[in-house]
Amino acid sequence: MSTYTVVNPATERAETEVELAGIEQTDAAIEQAHKAFPAWRRLAPGDRATLLRRFASVIDQHIDELAELEVRNAGHTWGNATWEAGNVRDVLNYYAGAPERLVGKQIPVDGGTNVTFHEPLGVVGIIVPWNFPMPILGWGMAPALAAGNTVVLKPAELTPLTAVRIGELALEAGIPEGVLSVLPGKGSVVGQRFVAHPYVRKVSFTGSTEVGKQIMAGCSEQVKRCTLELGGKSANIVFADADLAKAAASAPYAVFDNAGQDCCARSRILVQRSAYDEFLSLLEPAVKGVRVLDPSDRSSEMGPLISAHQRDVVRGFIDEVEVAYTGSMPAGDGFWVAPTVVLAESTEQRIWREEVFGPVVAVLPFDDEADAIAMANDTEYGLSGSIYTRDLGRAMRVSRGVDTGNLSVNSHAAVRYWTPFGGFKHSGLGRELGPEAPYAFTEEKNVFISDD
Ligand code: NDP
Repeated sequence: MSTYTVVNPATERAETEVELAGIEQTDAAIEQAHKAFPAWRRLAPGDRATLLRRFASVIDQHIDELAELEVRNAGHTWGNATWEAGNVRDVLNYYAGAPERLVGKQIPVDGGTNVTFHEPLGVVGIIVPWNFPMPILGWGMAPALAAGNTVVLKPAELTPLTAVRIGELALEAGIPEGVLSVLPGKGSVVGQRFVAHPYVRKVSFTGSTEVGKQIMAGCSEQVKRCTLELGGKSANIVFADADLAKAAASAPYAVFDNAGQDCCARSRILVQRSAYDEFLSLLEPAVKGVRVLDPSDRSSEMGPLISAHQRDVVRGFIDEVEVAYTGSMPAGDGFWVAPTVVLAESTEQRIWREEVFGPVVAVLPFDDEADAIAMANDTEYGLSGSIYTRDLGRAMRVSRGVDTGNLSVNSHAAVRYWTPFGGFKHSGLGRELGPEAPYAFTEEKNVFISDD
């Protein structure tokens, strides 16, 4: 069996070794999940709910431990990592309400009644990226389990530690053996097996658009269900009538959170030309004020990038352009890139079009509302976005005009577990979170009952 050396991104030092699953181990876990499925789906809804709540409670007792693992493994700030562990707990509690609410319909028809049921699919494969190892694990796992499926879950090779621990905590909480299996391993091995193995009836994937397309093509071979949460190049649109101080103060957090390794990063700032100079003068101190510190420092707001490779990818983007200014970053070891602002020259530049997945933002002016919507939509992606204006009608018009799944008005907050999340265009397929998520892990069955 091969192993992977987990490296602390803030120190570049090896933390621990993790055993990687191969094909045989993956197949064994899938078969175990397949065997565990009938009993898990038959469990009384109230009992499944109780187990999920117990799981949430065990997570709650381990928030600090999980956060500490994430700080060391992914370089997430302490503040983010504790929020992320809490998010797994909250998502489990939220979807613990689902087993008793997976209601169907009764439809009057000639000579009887039709009733519908939401049947679980069987084994669900969840493929998690390295940027948000805990939340994305929870967003797939919790509704899938609540709907009566069993789950095999692959964390990213780079960030397996919290997932492995959460798998252990599931057993501690009484989730039966085989209902949730965590398989650290390579995407090309374990992830690919989820796509190819006939017992896996749905794949829930979050990651790059490139791999997402391969997953979708692979799933088509078996008409396998898939949900894809992919990349983004989201716009933060600032109108001249906005509270410019508020827009400038929040803009860095819309793009530099998690060091920009965020599919929702608003990495393009569009500013109405008449307010461009004033906005830029407010943005600079806000960017320079972001506290880029060792992620274990409780006051750190931004940590390092995940790996030397990712740092080099981001540097490659920066080397192509003229940087307007940067924020700070620690000296010494660690995969650091300072928050970086680029005043773009054209919408054709790579920095304006491609997902950087690092702490780099590009700014361009626009003239009017129609121009702003056209520029925001001039991308293959459509995941997130923000709009700053004091005009409510304009906020509504622009919200409807921008082709993207998740927008915020006069705020940079984009994702809540009780509202739907997902992308337009190349940003994805299907929705996660919100009250509908468990239904996405079921098939609707329609039964006619004759009253003869
Ligand atoms: P990938 O899309 O390669 O990885 C995401 C997940 O998919 C990982 O668990 C990975 O496993 C797995 N995977 C990779 N190849 C396959 C495959 N053939 N079959 C099944 N599963 C597979 O993202 P990267 O880590 O390479 O990041 C590259 C870029 O993708 C980033 O710079 C960013 O632009 C974007 N990205 C976007 C994310 C988002 O949230 N939208 C998240 C992550 C990346 P493993 O890592 O173990 O190989």
